[in-house]
Amino acid sequence: MTAPITPSFWSPALEGLEPYVPGEQPKTTEKLIKLNTNESPYPPSPRARAVLQEAGLAEKLRLYPDPESTELRKTIAAEFGLTADQVFVGNGSDEVLAHAFYSFFQRPEPLLYPDITYSFYPVYCQFYGIEPRTLPLREDFSITVEDYAIEGAGGVILPNPNAPTGRYLPLAEIEQLLKMHPERVVVIDEAYIDFGGDSAVKLIADYPNLLVIHTLSKSHALAGLRLGYAMGQAHLIEGLNRAKNSFNSYPIDGIAQRVATVAIADRSWLADNCGKVIATRERTCEELSKLGFEIVPSRANFIFAKPPKISAEALFQALRERNIIVRYFNKPRISEYLRISIGTDEEMDALIGACREVL
Ligand code: PMP
Repeated sequence: MTAPITPSFWSPALEGLEPYVPGEQPKTTEKLIKLNTNESPYPPSPRARAVLQEAGLAEKLRLYPDPESTELRKTIAAEFGLTADQVFVGNGSDEVLAHAFYSFFQRPEPLLYPDITYSFYPVYCQFYGIEPRTLPLREDFSITVEDYAIEGAGGVILPNPNAPTGRYLPLAEIEQLLKMHPERVVVIDEAYIDFGGDSAVKLIADYPNLLVIHTLSKSHALAGLRLGYAMGQAHLIEGLNRAKNSFNSYPIDGIAQRVATVAIADRSWLADNCGKVIATRERTCEELSKLGFEIVPSRANFIFAKPPKISAEALFQALRERNIIVRYFNKPRISEYLRISIGTDEEMDALIGACREVL
């Protein structure tokens, strides 16, 4: 903390902000097993990597990129059976989420989301002056959809699968939410959908209030590229474009547009990568269960687990001392759980071995 300066140069709104705190990104990952921010343990598609070797790529940086990311949006649309005007792209799905909060949820009525969820949602609420109304998950961390039947809500947002629990909500229940709030936007944040869930994209044609958000940071192994996208009917996408063009007309650099276009089109690589992560996840769950961990059923590339015998915080520290980083949230209801990203089989063996030793 720097010493406060009087008078403050900060605007009053900034004074009270409590920003999002991302998981630790150590300066060097040498000798570290990094299982704390749900990145892919495998490198991105070789076709996507080959783009970076193309001659003349750097020279193109002289010019501004396509402000509309046209080729990329066309490719995403083709992948999901949509049209390009039903696709919006942003600098990571966090930026897409920020524009969605601004565009659809800045209203006098409260925004509904689960009490345990992605911790950026309350930060955007504060940033945009949106009143949140959190609805408690059940004891087993499942969502009770009936709780969302609240009159006069400003909208609904939830990740599916949820984060940090990994629990998946079936599409029939997403449809119930869409029907409960026909005049408000329901955002389904599908950052982890490729690891075992059914995407709500297929509901877009029937629901003008549905916005589905994806990222290349997890299943596509491109967290460093910063690319996320939203899909919905054209009137919602037009809204997001208004917000984006009032903030930054060139959020996606030309290299990211090219790499992302090739990565999205490489379907078979995506299926292989997710298949490997899912197999490792299932095996890790079995092994940790044998050690006495309570594990929440996960459809994501991480698991949420409560250790036996010692506190989650103590295990977090003990793993850190063994150069294994997982995520610990010191928050009500979840302070006895650790969120463990799925790494390679070797990394998970090291984690399981370390847990066995500590316990
Ligand atoms: N949504 C959820 C549920 C997440 O866990 C994350 C990752 N922190 C994001 C969105 C943002 O991902 P990115 O900005 O890398 O696309």
